[in-house]
Amino acid sequence: MATPYKPGVEQTPAEKIEYLKFLEERVAWISWREPIRMNDMRNHKGLGCRICIAKFGIVGENIKFLPSSLEAHNQHLREYHHLVVA
Ligand SMILES: [Zn+2]
Repeated sequence: MATPYKPGVEQTPAEKIEYLKFLEERVAWISWREPIRMNDMRNHKGLGCRICIAKFGIVGENIKFLPSSLEAHNQHLREYHHLVVA
């Protein structure tokens, strides 16, 4: 079964929500909406988005641009993934 994500094609807000539903149904043991702590060799630390990692993979060079607080991660979920979070 193909995933509802096509690499290189920006998803619409509805498709992003559909993609998260797909992840939550198929890989239910992962807390997709919780961030994951990441750091790189240069000691940049950040909170990675599991949904984005599932889509795009881990690119070490981008760690310095990751959110550093839960509040910033939640803002990413609201603005990029169109989720309603506190
Ligand atoms: Zn994300």
